[in-house]
Amino acid sequence: MKLQMKNNYDIIVVGAGIAGISASVKAARQGASVLLVERYGFVGGMSTAGMVSPFMKHSINDEVLVKGIYEELEKKMRLNNGMIDNGFYANSFRSAAFNLLFQSKVELALNTEVISVSKNINNIESLTLMTPHGKQNIKAKYFIDTSGDAQLLYLGKYPFEKGDDETGYLQALTLFFRLGGVDLRKATDFVKENKKDFFAWMEYDFDLTKIISVAGYFSVVKEAIKNGELHPSVEYIFYTTLPDSGEASFNTTNILDLDATSSEDLTKAEFIGRTQVQQVVKLLQNKIPGFENSYLLETAVQVGVRETRRAIGEYSISGNDIKNGEKFEDAIARGCYGIDIHGQKDEKSRMEDLPEGQYYEIPLRSLIVKDAENLLVAGRCISSTREGQSAVRIMPTCSATGEACGALAGIANKKDITIRDVDYNELEKELVGNLSKKGNNDVRI
Ligand SMILES: Cc1cc2nc3c(=O)[nH]c(=O)nc-3n(C[C@H](O)[C@H](O)[C@H](O)COP(=O)(O)OP(=O)(O)OC[C@H]3O[C@@H](n4cnc5c(N)ncnc54)[C@H](O)[C@@H]3O)c2cc1C
Repeated sequence: MKLQMKNNYDIIVVGAGIAGISASVKAARQGASVLLVERYGFVGGMSTAGMVSPFMKHSINDEVLVKGIYEELEKKMRLNNGMIDNGFYANSFRSAAFNLLFQSKVELALNTEVISVSKNINNIESLTLMTPHGKQNIKAKYFIDTSGDAQLLYLGKYPFEKGDDETGYLQALTLFFRLGGVDLRKATDFVKENKKDFFAWMEYDFDLTKIISVAGYFSVVKEAIKNGELHPSVEYIFYTTLPDSGEASFNTTNILDLDATSSEDLTKAEFIGRTQVQQVVKLLQNKIPGFENSYLLETAVQVGVRETRRAIGEYSISGNDIKNGEKFEDAIARGCYGIDIHGQKDEKSRMEDLPEGQYYEIPLRSLIVKDAENLLVAGRCISSTREGQSAVRIMPTCSATGEACGALAGIANKKDITIRDVDYNELEKELVGNLSKKGNNDVRI
């Protein structure tokens, strides 16, 4: 991996979450010089800094909908025992992603934040980066915003959307944490004996050699809130197990009424999140069978952010597109995860699964920023309504939209044409793993 940053690249990708990793690997494999800029000292975004696990559903019947670079990442994690089923460790993700970036000759600028965008009308010319040794201006022909927060659109003064159209609500924030020393046999026996205290979607034939999910403990949570032992915004306890036995990852803290694009709100969120973690751990140890000897292994580096800005692109993916399993002439990826909104204040949480076997497609137009000549967007901030975003935000789908942006910018660069002049048929051939069953353009189910 080259460590001396140049002043000019073919493609700059901003944000090294799963979308940015996939975008830059794909673009570099097309022969482009690619700089991937990341404000943290490591890659992975929500998959590592947020400690989010597991990968959400991305297959129907026997068909895996997201393959491509996502599958390469998965394979590397499984090889180093960092992933079983769909559960993985942040550390394993970081190593696998570093390895993939290195092998693909992506240049990486860590501890480096994009702080401004220079434009000539609608064409981005350069970015100003804040590096540990000061500001640096870098030019490129094409730019990909995988910052999660549509940061390039914001800094470049392109229009964007944020929150619910009527209330302005953004989804709740969650600080993940990981426990060790869990007696899972005892914990799941208790769950089986108290089914009424858990979500209706739960399955009770626990195979402890696999990743299992448990969500509920409603009466314990209610009682703890009544006794002042737990923050009143916590609604339930939700954990999934991890590859090593006796470990579990908790998606339980519930931080409301804050905007993760505000420094003040993010600071409050960290404080509230860390307070809730202490309370939940104590509750588990003292009140929940199977957790008596458990201990806190780690909390995520930062609070998990589900929703902030959304790009305005040439097409906006709607909740109906998700629910109806919409298909598009310019499809670049597929998904089967339904609408999943973690409610805010008086807003009810919503989880609407697609009927079994149903999937939707994501159109290329949702990655092309309206009125921008050389800017693409991938990951959780692609062009969508709030409902649409709540479905396409999962990690496998973010990888697939990142890969599509990398392929598109790579082809445009090779031919020295604009992103809108790329022939869709050529792009489709590059994305065949994410679009068809047999890796063949003729087979689309
Ligand atoms: C609490 C929670 C639970 C979730 N549960 C699941 C789940 O179970 N399964 C699932 O599949 N998905 C889940 N998700 C969704 C998923 O984790 C994220 O939507 C997805 O990882 C986002 O990927 P991304 O690459 O778009 O963005 P991110 O992972 O957010 O990456 C963006 C990157 O850009 C960097 N960045 C931002 N601004 C700048 C800048 N100006 N300069 C340089 N770098 C910058 C950030 O540091 C970050 O590394 C969950 C999300 C949350 C928050």
